[in-house]
Amino acid sequence: MPSPTPRPLRARLAPSPTGAQHVGNARTYLIAWLSARSQGAEVRLRIEDIDSPRIKQGSTDLILEDLCWLGLNFTGEPIIQTTRIPLYDAALERLRELELVYPCTCTRGDIEQAASAPHVEHEGPRYPGTCSHRRSGEANSLGTRPFAWRFRVNASPTFTDRFLGELSIDIRELGGDFVVWKSAGTPAYQLAVVVDDAAMGITEVIRGDDLAPSTPRQLLLYRALDLEPPVFAHVPLVIGQDGRRLAKRHGDTRLASLRKDGVQPESVIGLLAWSCGWVGEPRAISATELIPLFRLDTVPRSPFVLTSELLKKIETSR
Ligand code: GLU
Ligand code: ZN
Repeated sequence: MPSPTPRPLRARLAPSPTGAQHVGNARTYLIAWLSARSQGAEVRLRIEDIDSPRIKQGSTDLILEDLCWLGLNFTGEPIIQTTRIPLYDAALERLRELELVYPCTCTRGDIEQAASAPHVEHEGPRYPGTCSHRRSGEANSLGTRPFAWRFRVNASPTFTDRFLGELSIDIRELGGDFVVWKSAGTPAYQLAVVVDDAAMGITEVIRGDDLAPSTPRQLLLYRALDLEPPVFAHVPLVIGQDGRRLAKRHGDTRLASLRKDGVQPESVIGLLAWSCGWVGEPRAISATELIPLFRLDTVPRSPFVLTSELLKKIETSR
């Protein structure tokens, strides 16, 4: 059998405009960007403005400023999810024809919880399959009852993560049948990401390891829609001294604030480069200068702890 022509290497950054981006977001984007650039791959930008009920006006402009400031440039125009609804709709239609989704009328709370990018703390309880007896055509007889579309999870694909190695996360136990279309009438994160990554020809996805449990779900969608999946790598997040995800109590780690305070982007990049083992000490360096120094295997397995001393160091570096 002739092997398919390899696709050009292409990566993406996929921020959700839910508010200001912080040092933790910057670290993930830097790893994804450098991995791509060090392989000669192109980087695209996608604004995930259907991802969450927490979308904030103005966040997109801020994201563009943050990336530009950090020197993480991208090719082409940003892809905006809210302009692509017909594409997601077509994918849903295909899943309906295949009887791989069913209408779910369970409470709105349950459904909304399951419908955003499920960062670990948002992974809801396992869906008990209450509505799984329904055929997709029964949606027509539900009248005005609001319903979401759930994907039937009959398998849980294992995959080789470029950073974490062989991963088997059993999504039949974790979450079960998942939402691909919200009762509000908009696509859910899992479906939109797969449709977009496939349509954009993305061959490598690097993102935070809190999204690792999304990958088996996305692999099921690739399979169902007969699309070619990218290679995945999930990298550790940045946490505060107390071991919790970066938040206000850890000080102002927002990129926009650092920028406004006159901090040089090279100081932030240098700190992150040091945290990833590419340089021996946190010294000022640009993203471009790091391209030849990039390695995924020097990134520590544990989260990077952004202590108040380290934060102070970049704040006073200008
Ligand atoms: N938009 C998601 C987020 O910011 C990332 C999705 C992805 O990388 O697949 O959490
Ligand atoms: Zn249900």
